[in-house]
Amino acid sequence: IEESLPTSQHAVRVDVSGGPEVLQWRQVPVPSPAPGEVLVRTAAAGLNFIETYQRSGVYRMAHPFIPGSEGSGTVVRLGEGVETVSPGDVVATAAGSGTYAEYFTAPAGQLLPVPAGVDPVAAAAIPLQGMTAHYLCRSTYPVESGQTVLVHAGAGGVGLLLTQLCVARGATVITTASTLQKKELSRQAGASEVLDYTGFAARVRELTGGEGVHAVFDGVGRDTFDESLDSLRVRGTLVLFGGSSGQVPPFDLQRLNGAGSLYVTRPSLAYYTRTAEETRWRAEELFAAHGAGTLDFRVGATYPLSEAGRAQADLESRRTTGKSLLLP
Ligand code: NDP
Repeated sequence: IEESLPTSQHAVRVDVSGGPEVLQWRQVPVPSPAPGEVLVRTAAAGLNFIETYQRSGVYRMAHPFIPGSEGSGTVVRLGEGVETVSPGDVVATAAGSGTYAEYFTAPAGQLLPVPAGVDPVAAAAIPLQGMTAHYLCRSTYPVESGQTVLVHAGAGGVGLLLTQLCVARGATVITTASTLQKKELSRQAGASEVLDYTGFAARVRELTGGEGVHAVFDGVGRDTFDESLDSLRVRGTLVLFGGSSGQVPPFDLQRLNGAGSLYVTRPSLAYYTRTAEETRWRAEELFAAHGAGTLDFRVGATYPLSEAGRAQADLESRRTTGKSLLLP
C-alpha cells in the first residue's frame, strides 16, 4: 500500500550560475518517478565537489536545477516496471536526481540496499566517494600488496576512504594534507607519511629510495599535477580524478616518454558503474569492509539542507574533512 505523499516539498534550487549564495531554499513540487525509477524520502544528501563545479558554471547546467546526485533514505513510491525494490526499503545512491531535497528520484538499478545495522544517514557517505575510492584502487589502478601509492588530499572525503582501502590491500600509502589537524586524520586512516603540498615529489623520492611510487591518485589537479608526474616510478600511473584546485591545462604527451614511459588516465565514476551488477559489487565490498571494521565512513560534519551554501563554501575553502552530509 502506498502512503499518501505531499505534492510539494522544500529543496535547494539554482536559478543562475554563481557563488554559494545562488543555492536558494525553495518550495517545489515533489517529483514523480519515471518508469524504472523510484521516489526516495531523503535521510541525508551527500555533499560533493562536483556540485560546486555545477553551481559555479565550470560544468554547464540547464537552469533551474536542484543539485545533488548522492543520497540515502526510504523508498516511498515505485515508477512503472520496478520490481527489484519495495516501498519501505532503505537505500543509498550516487545516481539520484536532485538529492538536495526532501524527496528525490533515482534509477532502481543504481540503488544500493543499506544493510540492517548501518545508520541510514551515515549510508549517504558511501555511494559517491566510497564507490569512487573503490573503483580507483580496484579497477583504474588495481593496487597490490607491497606497492607504494600517493593519495592527495588525504583528509578529504575520497582521500580518507581511498587511504583505508589501499592499506587494507596491503599497500603503503603516502598522502598530502594542508593542516596539522588534517594530517593527523590522514595518519589515523592509515597513511604512513603525510606530506605538505610544497616539494612533495622530492620527499616521495626520498621515502621510496629514489624509485618513486607505483601510482598517484590526484583529485587536486592544477596545483599538484606536475609534481605528481615527478613522483612516479618508471611505468608508474597517474590517476587524475578531479581538480579541487582547478583543472589541469593541456600538456605535451612527450613528457610521459621522457619521464619513464608513464601512464595518465582521467577516470569518472559513471564509467565504472555501468551496470547494476558492477554498482552492487562495489557497494557490497564497501559495506562488507565497513561491517568488518576496516572501513570507517568518516562523517566530518552535517549541515541542514537549507544551509547548503555554507556547506559548499566550507568545501571550497578547504574547511571540511572526510564526508559532509546535508540533512532535510
Ligand atoms: P575533498 O573532501 O577531498 O575536498 C577537497 C580537498 O582538496 C580539500 O579539503 C583540500 O584538502 C584539497 N585541496 C587542495 N587544494 C585545494 C584548493 N586549491 N581548493 C580547495 N581544495 C583544495 O573533496 P571530495 O572528496 O568530494 O573530492 C575530491 C576530488 O575528487 C575532487 O576534485 C572531486 O571533483 C573528485 N571526484 C572525482 C570523481 C570521479 O569519478 N572522477 C568522483 C568523486 C570526486 P587540503 O586542505 O588537505 O589540501
